[in-house]
Amino acid sequence: MNSYVSRVLDEMRSKDASQPEFLQAVEEVLSSVDMIFEKHPEYEKMAVLERLVEPERMIQFKVPWSDDNGTIHVNRGYRVQFNNCLGPYKGGLRFHPSVNLGVMKFLAFEQIFKNALTTLPIGGAKGGSDFDPKDKSDAEIMRFCQSFMVELYRHIGADVDVPAGDMGVGAREIGYLYGYYRRIRGNSERGVITGKGIGYGGSLGRKEATGFGLIYFVMEMCKANNIAVTNKRTIVSGSGNVAIYAASKAMEMGMKVVAMSDSKGYIIDENLDINVVKRIKEVERTSLSKYVEYAGHGEYHEGSVYDADIACEFVLPCATQNEINLERAKRIVKNGCVLVAEGANMPNNNEAIKYYLENNIYFAPGKAANAGGVATSALEMSQNSMRLSWSFEEVDEKLQGIMTAIHKQCKDAMKEYDLADNNYVAGANIAGVSKVIDAMIAMGDY
Ligand code: NDP
Repeated sequence: MNSYVSRVLDEMRSKDASQPEFLQAVEEVLSSVDMIFEKHPEYEKMAVLERLVEPERMIQFKVPWSDDNGTIHVNRGYRVQFNNCLGPYKGGLRFHPSVNLGVMKFLAFEQIFKNALTTLPIGGAKGGSDFDPKDKSDAEIMRFCQSFMVELYRHIGADVDVPAGDMGVGAREIGYLYGYYRRIRGNSERGVITGKGIGYGGSLGRKEATGFGLIYFVMEMCKANNIAVTNKRTIVSGSGNVAIYAASKAMEMGMKVVAMSDSKGYIIDENLDINVVKRIKEVERTSLSKYVEYAGHGEYHEGSVYDADIACEFVLPCATQNEINLERAKRIVKNGCVLVAEGANMPNNNEAIKYYLENNIYFAPGKAANAGGVATSALEMSQNSMRLSWSFEEVDEKLQGIMTAIHKQCKDAMKEYDLADNNYVAGANIAGVSKVIDAMIAMGDY
């Protein structure tokens, strides 16, 4: 490894030792871009890496809220504004008990390069809370969102920082957050948050964008590498926003989705009915254990879908970070997998990724493959600025164009640095990182 990269990584390991997810994300990125620093030794004196790995601002705040019985609870809220040299900070809000500062930093760091790859003018940020939205009433969710916004509103704005949804933050939460922002500010400022409902400034196609975009990226990979998609047995882990629309689009494109999962268990079904999954997760907001009863076929098992032996050619992890470790990666490959594309952020740990690359598996990292969501959020911002609404078809066509452009940037970087044709990790990292570094340097000691 390049000595400058290695020194900065060592310094971070001692400074940020308590933030394993952040260190993991930084190691994944830096270890695959060290050729940039070999080519540009002058970057060391310019402290380019130190500037890249240090967030511009981290905001932590208390979020007190009362439940339906009048008991008061306190959660932690966060917004990490990591880098805005390409445009306003942009990144989702996650409400999940696993949220902490290290998780926020990892997500915000990834977001910088993902956003750079979209070709749109947006910087990188992430936020959220360790609040668990599960089993809360609508009124409790609303009070929590309002209390969260009481602090967040000071730090965001259509040209400053534009949050969106992520795990645990869907259309309902975005509505409550945006509604309260408007009340505090006394103006409509539609471009301050994305993922809004269609009737009040949202974009058609945003809900589907991450999952659809993932499949458009997979189609590009398959085209470039002569892989046929028809009837390819596919596992989609998760059954939330990303997973549902990835599975629907995969089926539309001719792939055969044979398994999906949630945090408690997984379903295996040769005739998987995505509408039943939608009913369970989007309408009833309950567990996949209901699937067999509702669908009348398939199997349900507790535990992780990646601990089961399911014959598959494609794996699309769309649930959460670090779902797949080395042992699970080995099982996936043994079961016939040739392509893994990340719908979630960092669902594979670094050992798993290394194993795929060594075993000639085509592997697409989340920062390229799941960028369709944030790209469509940026399209929502454009529509808000123009005070126009595009049709679903217009948005979807733009999304396809963006995913094709992201794939091309990865391929171009792979060619420029003479990398193996399955090494999309390095391709995406080099393309994203180079763009941010060039902008940072152009703007002085940014
Ligand atoms: P959702 O909250 O809609 O869905 C998350 C899904 O993951 C649920 O099915 C959930 O199960 C499951 N899950 C949560 N924790 C675990 C776990 N420990 N093991 C197995 N399954 C788990 O989130 P999204 O679909 O929006 O996001 C999923 C991933 O995609 C995240 O990594 C997110 O950062 C990333 N992403 C999302 C984008 C978006 O536009 N939404 C954009 C880009 C990336 P259960 O139903 O039981 O809770």
